[in-house]
Amino acid sequence: MKSGALSRARWAQPAVRRSLALGGITATYLPDGYVELHPARWFSLDGATSLYDDRPELIASSGHLIASIGVLLLEGPGWRILVDAGLGPTSVPADATHPALGVMRGGGLASFASVIGEVDAVVLTHAHDDHVGWARRGWAGLPGVAGAPHLVGRDEPAPGDWERVDDGQEIAPGVTAIATPGHTAGHLSLVVEGDERRLVVVGDTFHSPLQVEVPHLCSCFDVDPARSRDSRARMLRELEPPGTVAAATHFADVPFGRVRAGRWEPVA
Ligand SMILES: [Zn+2]
Repeated sequence: MKSGALSRARWAQPAVRRSLALGGITATYLPDGYVELHPARWFSLDGATSLYDDRPELIASSGHLIASIGVLLLEGPGWRILVDAGLGPTSVPADATHPALGVMRGGGLASFASVIGEVDAVVLTHAHDDHVGWARRGWAGLPGVAGAPHLVGRDEPAPGDWERVDDGQEIAPGVTAIATPGHTAGHLSLVVEGDERRLVVVGDTFHSPLQVEVPHLCSCFDVDPARSRDSRARMLRELEPPGTVAAATHFADVPFGRVRAGRWEPVA
């Protein structure tokens, strides 16, 4: 897609369903909802929002960054994997969330039950509410997912019946887990090797395209900011080889993209 063809509104609105063909493997983003992020408080900027002077399109009319909440369905020959579990069928008003957050809305995944169908495994990038919501509710209304093994990073606080995954472990043919701690102790990212394209699922090592330009910015929820920066740097290195694209599921309606000249360039 030519950058000029991209609607400016997509930088500050919740994601819609989008798919990307990798060659033999397809990645589909399915939206569950969104959460509003306070543009200064989210990155502990002490009220200073001058970093956004060059990127006003990232800020919605509400004054927030819009972080989409959703899942990624990976489909290869004979296998299907779901990455993350959304917020679930719930909404939280702004005055009941954290000062760095506005409203949180979930539940959209219910309308994609037939798309999701049966999966072989669910990989949870980490155990925050906006990534494990449907799993904690037993996947009610999404019966093809409930019985699948749930995989989570070795060091992540999580239910005991979820299987543990190590750095470098192959989860499916061409799908490898990468330990990217910092946002949480056991945060996982994924590298997906298609025949034509390589996809890096960055998880919550990034929350906004602004962090592609200013990688030292950490979410106020990061448990270990130094390790978060290291993990973000590792992700940026993983994104360097030609033919590599990324899935950044919190990036408004530009969840698939690549890094070009130090900026996020949406694809799909
Ligand atoms: Zn998140």
